[in-house]
Amino acid sequence: MLYIGCHLSSSKGYRAMAEQAAAIDANTFAFFTRNPRGGSAKELNSDDIKRFHEFADEKGFGRIVAHAPYTMNCCASDKKIRQFAHDTLADDLRRMEAVPGNYYNFHPGCHVGQGIDQGIDLIAEQLNSVLTGDETTAVLLETMAGKGSEIGSRFEELRRIIDLTEHDNVLGVCLDTCHVWDGGYDIVSNLDGVLEEFDKVIGLDRLKAIHLNDSMNPLGAHKDRHAKIGEGHIGAEALVRVMLHPALRGLPMILETPNDIDGYAREIAFLREKYSE
Ligand code: FE
Ligand code: FE
Ligand code: ZN
Repeated sequence: MLYIGCHLSSSKGYRAMAEQAAAIDANTFAFFTRNPRGGSAKELNSDDIKRFHEFADEKGFGRIVAHAPYTMNCCASDKKIRQFAHDTLADDLRRMEAVPGNYYNFHPGCHVGQGIDQGIDLIAEQLNSVLTGDETTAVLLETMAGKGSEIGSRFEELRRIIDLTEHDNVLGVCLDTCHVWDGGYDIVSNLDGVLEEFDKVIGLDRLKAIHLNDSMNPLGAHKDRHAKIGEGHIGAEALVRVMLHPALRGLPMILETPNDIDGYAREIAFLREKYSE
């Protein structure tokens, strides 16, 4: 089964997102839990959530993939920023339990000059202060491009966060194709090798979702600029191979390409076509 979708605006609620997804032949979607620059989240509406579940069940949706705001930096050097990250993480995870059994994806953080080791320690500390181990939501660390002082551009860094987290049963990984490419993992000429390395370092059982994006930059650029499918340095063929790889079957494939809704509809149609060939 192919679960494919794109990033949608959450302003009208869960049911509206699911309807918008279905209208472009998507059967999963991603959304920001709150304004990506931070701020407060909309109140949960139990009627909306009920109507979302009815619709998603009827249409056979896969798991949905919520995204934490970009401003959530779990390993900031400023204590106030870390407190904001803690409060956001705790509030988001509480709210995710209203739609049980889905995914919550976040950028591990930027160490802003404190060094990778300290950054990793602070991220694990945050997770340890929030996670109870009883969450039905899987909390996904996103693979990063390694822009600036970003943590998570090496699989080993994600592994260490997992190792330092007490309730690691809740943790998984979301692999962003643009980010790993920018991080130096050659998914174009050696996808099998990259996935073998992922398996060796982290374990493929931790891999729960894919962000399917092309990249505006060459391998190892550490830039993080997404391109439309087929318009970047990764290319459509390599991204189709990711979609079709047996080790990745059944994972939600989320497009975060620079598109309006019609552009997403075209990319989903293209990928579905390739899937059925
Ligand atoms: Fe992301
Ligand atoms: Fe991403
Ligand atoms: Zn990105």
